[in-house]
Amino acid sequence: MIDLRSDTVTRPSPGMLAAMTSAPTGDDVYAEDPTVTELEQTVAGLLGHEAGLFTVSGSLANILGVRALAAPGTEVLCEAGAHVARAELGAHAAISGITTRTWSAPGGQIDLDQIRALVAPDLGPYFVTTAAVSVENTHNFGGGTIQTGYDALADELDVLGLPLHLDGARLWNASVASGVPVSAYASRAAAASVCLSKGLGAPIGSVLVGSAGLIQEARVWRKRLGAGWRQAGVLAAAGLYALEHNVERLAEDHAHARLIAEILADAAPGSVKPDQVETNIVVADLSGVGKSVAEVIAGAKAEGVLIGGVGATQLRLVTHLDASTADCRQAAETVARLLR
Ligand SMILES: *Cc1c(COP(=O)(O)O)cnc(C)c1O
Repeated sequence: MIDLRSDTVTRPSPGMLAAMTSAPTGDDVYAEDPTVTELEQTVAGLLGHEAGLFTVSGSLANILGVRALAAPGTEVLCEAGAHVARAELGAHAAISGITTRTWSAPGGQIDLDQIRALVAPDLGPYFVTTAAVSVENTHNFGGGTIQTGYDALADELDVLGLPLHLDGARLWNASVASGVPVSAYASRAAAASVCLSKGLGAPIGSVLVGSAGLIQEARVWRKRLGAGWRQAGVLAAAGLYALEHNVERLAEDHAHARLIAEILADAAPGSVKPDQVETNIVVADLSGVGKSVAEVIAGAKAEGVLIGGVGATQLRLVTHLDASTADCRQAAETVARLLR
C-alpha cells in the first residue's frame, strides 16, 4: 500500500528508534525528564519564544494555547477551514467555553478586510468579545498553503492589542518552502504550536511555545486535562532526532506534491493548479470531474493507494518521508486514471 492519506502515517526510522531507546529520562510531571526539557527548550529557542511545552498531540497544544489567550465566554476568529474550528471536534467550545467566528478565503488565506469586519474587542455587554485571532500556517485543508498576509495581520493585531495564535502544525513546511525562518513566523504569535509527528516523522508529539507565564499556565491545564506524562523523554528523543535529520528534506516532499499535482492536472484539468501547490499537500477539486470523492478513494484503495477526502468534492493527498518519488508517481498515475 502507498499511503498518502496524511503525513502522520510515517513510522519511526531505525535511527530515530535508536535515539529513543538511549534517551535519558525522568518524571516529567516533576519537570525531571532531561530529554523532554531539552526538546522544549530547543523548540522554544528555534521559534523565538521563552518556553515550550511538549504535548501528546497538536490538538492538545492548540487547546492549551488558545485557552491561554481566550477566557471562557470570549471568541477566537479563524478561517472557516481551520483545524481549530473543524478538526478538533469542538474542543475549544466543549472544554474551554470559547466560541469561534470565521472568515472564509481561497486556500484558507488570511483576509485582512474580513478580519477587520469581524473583530469586536469590546462592544459592551451585548456582543461576545474577540480575544484572539488564530492562523494556520501552512493551511491544511486549504491545500498546504503558505499564508501571504501573515506579517500584515500580525502588525494589525499589534495595533489592536489582540494576541495571535499560530497553528504551526506544518510550520517547518512553510519555512522550508518560503525560506522564511520559523522564528520569523512564530515570534509574531503570543502562542504557537508545532507538530513533530507530521512531516518531521516523529511517532507522537507537538510543542506549544509562548512566554514563560503562558507555558506555566498551559502546564497546569495539561495536567488538569489528564495529559501530564512521566518518562516522556523516549518520545521527546524522537522529536529531537526529527529536528536534526528531517527538516531540510521536507523540500523533497514538496517536490513530490508538485509532481502529483502536475499528473492530476494533466488528467483532470482545473481540478488542481500545480503552481499553487507550495508544500506537501495536494487538494484536488472533483466538482468538474464527474466522479465522487468516495468513488475515487475506493478505486484508489483497490489499486493499493490510500488517499483521503477533506470536503464534499475534495480529495487530499499528502506527501511524507515514507513515500518515495516512485511511490508518489505511481499513486498519482493511479488516481489520474480514475479521474480520466
Ligand atoms: C494535524 C494538525 C493538528 C494537530 O493534530 P493532532 O492529530 O491532534 O496532532 C493541528 N493543526 C493542523 C493544521 C494539523 O494539520
